[in-house]
Amino acid sequence: MKKLALHWQIMIGMIAGVLFGILVSYVGWQGFVADWIKPFGTIFISLLKLIAIPLILASLIKGISDLQDISKFKNMGLRTVILYVISTVVAISIGLAVVNIIQPGEYVSAETVAELTESFSAEGEKRVTAASNQKSKGPLQFVVDMVPQNIFGAASHNGNMLQVIFFAIFFGISMLLVKDEQVKPIKDFFDSVNDIILKMVDLIMLSAPYAVFALLASLIAETTNPDLFLALGWYAASVVIGLVLMMAVYIAAVYFITGKKPAFFLKGISPAQLLAFSTSSSAATLPVTMERVEEHLGVHKEVTSFVLPVGATINMDGTSLYQAVAAVFICQALDFDLTFQDQLTIVLTATLASIGSAAVPGAGMIMLVIVLESLGLPAESLAIGLALIFAVDRPLDMCRTTVNVTGDASVAMIVGNSLGKLGEPHVKNWDDNKEHL
Ligand code: ASP
Repeated sequence: MKKLALHWQIMIGMIAGVLFGILVSYVGWQGFVADWIKPFGTIFISLLKLIAIPLILASLIKGISDLQDISKFKNMGLRTVILYVISTVVAISIGLAVVNIIQPGEYVSAETVAELTESFSAEGEKRVTAASNQKSKGPLQFVVDMVPQNIFGAASHNGNMLQVIFFAIFFGISMLLVKDEQVKPIKDFFDSVNDIILKMVDLIMLSAPYAVFALLASLIAETTNPDLFLALGWYAASVVIGLVLMMAVYIAAVYFITGKKPAFFLKGISPAQLLAFSTSSSAATLPVTMERVEEHLGVHKEVTSFVLPVGATINMDGTSLYQAVAAVFICQALDFDLTFQDQLTIVLTATLASIGSAAVPGAGMIMLVIVLESLGLPAESLAIGLALIFAVDRPLDMCRTTVNVTGDASVAMIVGNSLGKLGEPHVKNWDDNKEHL
């Protein structure tokens, strides 16, 4: 019998997880889920994070040193950054259009605002404090932070992804400047490491359907007060409609620019999308995104190894779209009028805020504070604003992370195509491995 494709297996795991989570909420088995099911989801995320840094190091060093000359790297870097900025601005514009048409803030009554403020202002306060810690640094701190003082220190923390990328690029470029025969052993070494780590991704993915079951079951079991969900329905719908439109933009862009059909693109990337949805973390999903884009979509390693890790850290179209919708929604709900100029400010600040958001669950909401502040929302309203959207933030985070990952994959396809580095998929056959397992 033909085995069910991975994305279907994951999908079944997700649906079963949601249903089980709902059942648990009814019968009150939350303790059981927390003790016996959730840990499997946590282990799965840890395994993915475990291989992220070694994978970036190995594939980026190998990828850059394969480029043959520095001008090719400059070319790729420039195209990538330009596409990342364009896609972010498009995402924010879609978000602004949707939120201005639907006007979700008008559907929230004063009682709901009061209720949400009472329930969640402490959560809002926490995020305002987290944001102020981030931005008390100077404007160039972002660049300063990118350069590590110690590579082992940098590689010891997943939050330092950009530092590791910086080191790998520097190392790879230096390899290009040294004679071929001198760098060959190092190239071969990183090549093998890369292959082994991609195999680790394959192995970890075997447990993905069970892991997403555990992740979603525990998430639903922990959800309190589903009624608030309805009160914020129009806001949540605005974000989701915007995200769906953005997804359509990617699919169309990939089709018209690279000629790859939507079904091909979606089939190739869907396991990464489903994981992004289940984990709410582009960083945790990165190893899978890299494996899928390289092996299933056919983008060469020289491109994926650079475009995807950089994208996971700085290109978050879903997050920027969400920040635009959330900022306008909060202003509408608090009767804070926005001018056209304010909306332009959102384009700029949401671009920066999404770049600054970490690729972990809930990070986009922290950076939203910066967007709200730039609009002149009074300090005492910031925590209230965040309290308004807190109740539905996790499900929206799941959706925006899916878009973040899809955006990176689309840009990788387009950059790969423009550099002649988009080939045929070369999926490694699982049956070759079975006898060893
Ligand atoms: N969870 C998102 C990501 O990892 C970031 C965010 O919007 O909170 O891509």
